[in-house]
Amino acid sequence: MQFEFKTESKRLMDLMIHSIYTNHEIFLRELISNASDAIDKAFIEGGRGNLLLPEAGEYKIRISSNKEDRTITIEDNGIGMTEAELIDNLGTIASSGSLNFKQNLTDEETAELIGQFGVGFYAGFMVANKVIVETKSRRDGNSSKWTSEGIEGYDIDVSDKSNPGTVVTLYLKENDDDYDYSELLNESQLKHLIEKYSNYIRYPIVLASGEEENTINSMVPLWRKNKSELSDSDYEEFYRQNHYGYGSPLATIHQSIEGVISFKSLMFVPEKAPLDYYAPEYEKGLSLYSSGVMIMDKCPELLADYFSFIQGVVDSEDISLNISREMLQQNRQLQVIAKRINDKIKEELLLMQINNRDKYNEFFDQFGRQLKFGIYSTFGMAKDIIQDLLVFHWSGSDKPITLKEYLGKMAPDQDKIYYANGDSREKINRLPQVKRMLERDYPVLFFYEDIDEFTIKTMHAFDSKEFVSVQSQDDLWLSDKEKESKEELNKTHIDILDQIKKALNNKVVSVVASDDLGEEPSCLTAKGEISIEMEKILKQAPEGHRLNAEKVLEVNVNHPAFNKLSSIEPDNKEDFEAVSRVLYQQARMLEGLEVEDPVQFTNDIWSLIKGE
Ligand code: ADP
Repeated sequence: MQFEFKTESKRLMDLMIHSIYTNHEIFLRELISNASDAIDKAFIEGGRGNLLLPEAGEYKIRISSNKEDRTITIEDNGIGMTEAELIDNLGTIASSGSLNFKQNLTDEETAELIGQFGVGFYAGFMVANKVIVETKSRRDGNSSKWTSEGIEGYDIDVSDKSNPGTVVTLYLKENDDDYDYSELLNESQLKHLIEKYSNYIRYPIVLASGEEENTINSMVPLWRKNKSELSDSDYEEFYRQNHYGYGSPLATIHQSIEGVISFKSLMFVPEKAPLDYYAPEYEKGLSLYSSGVMIMDKCPELLADYFSFIQGVVDSEDISLNISREMLQQNRQLQVIAKRINDKIKEELLLMQINNRDKYNEFFDQFGRQLKFGIYSTFGMAKDIIQDLLVFHWSGSDKPITLKEYLGKMAPDQDKIYYANGDSREKINRLPQVKRMLERDYPVLFFYEDIDEFTIKTMHAFDSKEFVSVQSQDDLWLSDKEKESKEELNKTHIDILDQIKKALNNKVVSVVASDDLGEEPSCLTAKGEISIEMEKILKQAPEGHRLNAEKVLEVNVNHPAFNKLSSIEPDNKEDFEAVSRVLYQQARMLEGLEVEDPVQFTNDIWSLIKGE
């Protein structure tokens, strides 16, 4: 029967075949990795007793080549596939459906995309123009055959394959100017590729040479080796092989714990967040092994939510091979392991923060949001664990700082941590509320992300220093003397301030006079718990919260606009209202709020210009 590939599969295959992604060699690694996964699955399901029993012989992966036919075969005695699974697994790319990748990708994007999907089975088409998969499922005992010559589609037929497992046969392309495919048929080359890419696969990979079969790989899983035996490139290869990322990890954590509970773990901080990292479908977890045998592909209990970006494996002889998923959740051993693992991750991240700040900033760009969310979503319970890991942009330089570092930058008379919200450094720097803090030599944290303010509101304080928005109306930064003189100033102008408030029709809760706004005629601050930034965010939420910040308009008494207001004749209400509205609307713009009525705003400005 003939089938067509799903659209996304076609595109990915097309990318693979005409690939700019030039590392053809990895096809073997991908197919061996699938074979190894298939044996894992046979193990896991076999343990539960609902499979056709595996035959007595050892599990293994067998590689052979045939120069006359120009074929390479990769054979395993793993779980196999039913006909439906063949269609599901090889006719579509599992994760691509939800991801719409764009047209015209750059080389780097292609590499990234391929890396993220894991090149997988389709990598075969990088070297072959025809692929045959013959398989017998341990689940239903039936055999089927899948044949494809590329993008057009594939055929499915019955097969007489007698032993369970899967054989993938690649019919190599003809050599061309770019690549010598024939080279891959040489045993020495296949041996080289197995050693290079698949040395730590746990099952024997045998290379068939005539009647002889030689096991090529070392089989000891990487994480069971001593750190001293391993090089950076060993770790990196393992990282790529498992599709944790496509380049080099930002950090590698290899832990070996002996004690009441013993375990080994090998974890990575990926260099980039996966495409679906911030999507609900993303699954956190580490692969869990018991004495070298996989129990579970992704065990979520091992990772705290705020460390959900960590990839890797944990292997412990203290976890029973037959433990069920449900039992795991209450398993005390597992909880102890999880605690040690999460402590270790924090320790490693702190080390990176201290020893390699540039790298740490790269890390934080990718995953900092998850850490901040960790504080917010646990209602502050994870604050003590996470707060030292946070870094924020700030007024002093374009390199982010930790909260502890901020404390070290505070002015002698400063006892609060100040922050400002805005889209960018440029915009925040222009805010008069920020400028007046800088006049005082008070450093200001710059919040660009919507989560930032929610996070620090949950924390409330750091090292007993309260967080205060410079865009709030609390004037917490003023000394008693300054407060007095501000009150004085407001008394002097009370009539005109009242008039402005009336002219604005209660759009603001009050209008106050300021003499420290520099060159700006006015600005908006908020009273109470809800900041202007939060108002913006809440409005975007799907439930469409209608919570508004209590806005206060500050007008600069030293600005010509204020002089203008003061000089308008009492009976010229129109002009007075127009100036008031312009002061208010442009203060909104400074805060990144929209102009409420652009037509009126334009009319106001023109009427004022004409009136001059
Ligand atoms: P991935 O391995 O990342 O899931 P692949 O494209 O490599 O993606 O493979 C798709 C699916 O096909 C696998 O998840 C697996 O279910 C199935 N598969 C591939 N190769 C084999 C095999 N040798 N034995 C059994 N199933 C396989």
